[in-house]
Parts: sequence; structure tokens; C-alpha cells
Amino acid sequence: MPKGEIPYQGKLGDYQCRNCGRRWTSGHSHPNVGLWCSNCNSKVYPTIRPQ
Ligand SMILES: [Zn+2]
Repeated sequence: MPKGEIPYQGKLGDYQCRNCGRRWTSGHSHPNVGLWCSNCNSKVYPTIRPQ
């Protein structure tokens, strides 16, 4: 792994669905990988928390 590259596996990320406003947090977030909102099935991309 190149120096300075941060592994994203296991990053804490905050999700907020733009469609229905549902919020949740995942401990396995990647900024380029969206999750499906379990409320309305929209795709939501996370805001990764700085560590
Ligand atoms: Zn939703």
C-alpha cells in the first residue's frame, strides 16, 4: 500500500437518505460505495468520519 493511502475498510460513516431523511451509521463505510436505504430503497453515500 502506498504511503499516505488510508484503508477505508472499517471506517465509521454517517448516512443520510436524501429521499426520506433516514439516518444511520455504519462501521464499514467506503466513500465510493453507497448503501441502500432500508426505508425507501434509495442509494445513499456516506460521509466518512475523520479519525
Ligand atoms: Zn430513504
